[in-house]
Amino acid sequence: MSDTIEDPVTEDAQRDRPTDDRDVSLRLDGIAKVFADDVVAVDDVSLTIHDGEFIVLVGPSGCGKTTTLRTIAGLEQPTEGRVVIDGEDVSGQDPRERDVAMVFQNYALYPHKTVRENIAFPLEIRKFPDGVIAEHMQETAELLGISELLDRRPADLSGGQQQRVALGRAIIRDPKLFLFDEPLSNLDAKLRIQMRTELNKLHDRVGKTSVYVTHDQVEAMTLSDRVVVMNNGAVQQVDPPEVVYDQPANRFVAGFIGEPPMNFFDVSATTADGVRVTGGGIELRLPAAIGESLSEHGDRERLELGVRPEAFEDAALADESVADGRSVDAHVMVVEPMGPYKDLAVRPADREDEQAAEFTARVSNDTGAIAGDTIRLAVDTDEVHLFDPATGDNLLA
Ligand code: ATP
Repeated sequence: MSDTIEDPVTEDAQRDRPTDDRDVSLRLDGIAKVFADDVVAVDDVSLTIHDGEFIVLVGPSGCGKTTTLRTIAGLEQPTEGRVVIDGEDVSGQDPRERDVAMVFQNYALYPHKTVRENIAFPLEIRKFPDGVIAEHMQETAELLGISELLDRRPADLSGGQQQRVALGRAIIRDPKLFLFDEPLSNLDAKLRIQMRTELNKLHDRVGKTSVYVTHDQVEAMTLSDRVVVMNNGAVQQVDPPEVVYDQPANRFVAGFIGEPPMNFFDVSATTADGVRVTGGGIELRLPAAIGESLSEHGDRERLELGVRPEAFEDAALADESVADGRSVDAHVMVVEPMGPYKDLAVRPADREDEQAAEFTARVSNDTGAIAGDTIRLAVDTDEVHLFDPATGDNLLA
């Protein structure tokens, strides 16, 4: 049974609504999924996704991404909540009725059928006339650059070609939604990057609402209009990629998005003469604006300071001398040349024995630092983050 939903009904559903006036294509309304033995896979997920948006669900293994996607497809029944597609509550409908196309990691092609037969299959079971199928086939094959492969069987194709055929089978029937479950994870690293770019171009051309699941944050950042970061079955943040990176909602998102990950330091803060944070072998004076944002949250002594590796630079390469309070003297343990920059594994200079104080600095390739050196690292204090150690909330976002 289905009924038409005229307006979003929950506050949660509205909270993540982007500021645009496109129609809502998909809404998840308080979705929960509890498996046997009280395993809570999805815990009260609400999302509002607009027509043509490319949304990526990302998070660590077991955080509930696939279960959320399967619930949208109708392959799982939610324990609570509703799935609304194009204004219609489809919660009670089976997968066929929902008009969504799913692309899987393992391609799921029929081995005994040719590429042409694999792609045509969704139209054939819907009894489309041959002429219409041929027309759609030509368009789809051209779109994906596989016109030359139509008479081959899947076993005679590379992984990338097989994934293109799987995409073709999804595209040909012009569904309401595309759902992707880690579609690139069986490909080697180079092909994955190439297919990522192709998926981006394809979405620009086809413009269909898409929900894409991955544990790969680079895919999440490069493919999405908005990223949904999940942990423990719950949504942590829904925002465009730059916002998730620059203004992570909490410590989990801050630590999950970014490679190498953000460094964290347990610090105490004093606000007598500007904000000073001290701990983990570092001492920084933070910009006045940070002090103002902090004071909105009330005085706190204990904080967790977050500094991305790229917020450090070898002070010897800075134009001007770097003031105390905006630098850390560090002992270099390992130097990893990465091409355009070097990643340094370091410890604060006077804390060399303490494992806890180790952190990563990503500095210019021109650095002369070698393992065993003690160098001064400049810190871009405009780029630091402060988290509530109890709740993990970002106090500056
Ligand atoms: P991954 O990236 O490893 O695929 P995921 O984020 O997609 O992880 P899910 O597959 O959605 O996570 O699983 C979420 C949780 O639900 C996990 O703890 C998982 O073990 C559990 N789970 C998933 N499917 C079932 C099932 N059919 N029966 C019982 N528990 C399940």
